[in-house]
Amino acid sequence: MTTIIDGKQVAASVIDTVKSASAALEKETGVKPGLAVVIVGNDPASHAYVSSKSRMAKECGFTSIQHTLPEETMQEELARLVETLNADANIHGILVQLPLPKHLKSDPIIQSIKPEKDVDGLHVVNAGKLATGDLDGGLVSCTPAGAMVFVRRTHGDDLSGLNAVVVGRSNLFGKPMSALLLAANATVTTAHSRTKDLAGVCRNADILVAAVGRPEMVKADWVKPGATVIDVGINRIPAPEKGEGKSRMVGDVAFEECAKVASTITPVPGGVGPMTIAMLMANTVIAAYRKAGRTPPK
Ligand code: NDP
Repeated sequence: MTTIIDGKQVAASVIDTVKSASAALEKETGVKPGLAVVIVGNDPASHAYVSSKSRMAKECGFTSIQHTLPEETMQEELARLVETLNADANIHGILVQLPLPKHLKSDPIIQSIKPEKDVDGLHVVNAGKLATGDLDGGLVSCTPAGAMVFVRRTHGDDLSGLNAVVVGRSNLFGKPMSALLLAANATVTTAHSRTKDLAGVCRNADILVAAVGRPEMVKADWVKPGATVIDVGINRIPAPEKGEGKSRMVGDVAFEECAKVASTITPVPGGVGPMTIAMLMANTVIAAYRKAGRTPPK
């Protein structure tokens, strides 16, 4: 029997833990975790993401602030807002929703966020801590942190002796995911567009993580029988069966066929997706605990 991971359910259990941790921190120290989310411009998908992040922050008992800036915002204005939030003692996490409008440079903005408030885990200090195995000192990028929760729930904390293959090497996902698996003692291969015999490399994986952005690229004969398959991809493909011009969401893994070979697999939607916001909340609570001089709950 293949286990299909219910990402919504796992995310809900992470959120429950965050709520308790947030309430306990406020009760013991008077510190209420604070999350500031910044969005620039009118991209509807980004607005939908930001609204759900702000809403979830409120549900978790945080101070939740949303700054909505117009499309024509200049680099300096955005930089000034980040500086203000960096200095605000009630804000423990700052998230600048990406992508920014084309005239703005995202990297200087992300790197200007104080690393201890970088709840998206994208600052080089946090990436560096992860790369050097300092998992307790930094903040880990939310989507790989979420995928890792699935891996831990399936295999435990110690992945000694297991081969893990991550397809994709982005700074946002592939690299931090590989670092997390390595820190848990897996033997890790990071594959990408220049990898030779990708199917063969994937067939070696006890844990296969796909983060490519190519609909249903991973086929059943790429999957080692009994493997754990984590699908991070979010792709929209035409769905004429739903009506003219309609689309549906699929991952990077051909789910139906791979589910017959894997022992554990995540669906799209409803797998990794819901974990990203949950881990953002978890990072905010971790940042608030650290600011209060407390050890964050695991
Ligand atoms: P990027 O485009 O930044 O990276 C894609 C990676 O896939 C690159 O490393 C690229 O290799 C590799 N790649 C592209 N084509 C191939 C191929 N044919 N064979 C092997 N490797 C290939 O994407 P992201 O990492 O940001 O995201 C990946 C996917 O995950 C997307 O679908 C995205 O929407 C999704 N995602 C989902 C999130 C969630 O919340 N669930 C959050 C973040 C991402 P190379 O480096 O050589 O170009």
